[in-house]
Amino acid sequence: MDQRTYIMIKPDAVARGFVGRILQRFEDAGLTFEKLEYGVVTREQAAANYVEHQGKPFYDGLVDYITSGPVVKMVLRGPGAVAVCRKLMGATNPADAAPGTIRGDFGLVMDANVIHGSDSPESAEREIGVFFG
Ligand code: UDP
Ligand code: MG
Repeated sequence: MDQRTYIMIKPDAVARGFVGRILQRFEDAGLTFEKLEYGVVTREQAAANYVEHQGKPFYDGLVDYITSGPVVKMVLRGPGAVAVCRKLMGATNPADAAPGTIRGDFGLVMDANVIHGSDSPESAEREIGVFFG
């Protein structure tokens, strides 16, 4: 059955010109772009999106980074979309992400790891609400 997930191309990847190639990977996998929007994340949206990381040592840097420049926000739809997208993205730390994954191919360090993707169908619906109301 179709599922939705929230995906966001982070500021470093937008600035470095990887948007087209990253979108291509999701399209190639057969996912549908239900929503697609270019814009800047507010600090309020960043805090809501990353609520589970509040208080962690990397939290303030993460909010600064995700609000530092334009991102590409999207809702992707397809069978098992949450897990499929996490697989296409690769491990959180690009240094550990396998070649062929988005983070493995376009990233180098944890602080600028190219892309965000929801980790469960429940997180997805919550995050879609944060960014698309
Ligand atoms: N992050 C970081 N340092 C860490 C862990 C996470 O900078 O030690 C950042 C990184 O950008 C990551 C985000 O915080 O994508 C959210 O972390 P999470 O563990 O949820 O990873 P993800 O779900 O993005 O793979
Ligand atoms: Mg996460």
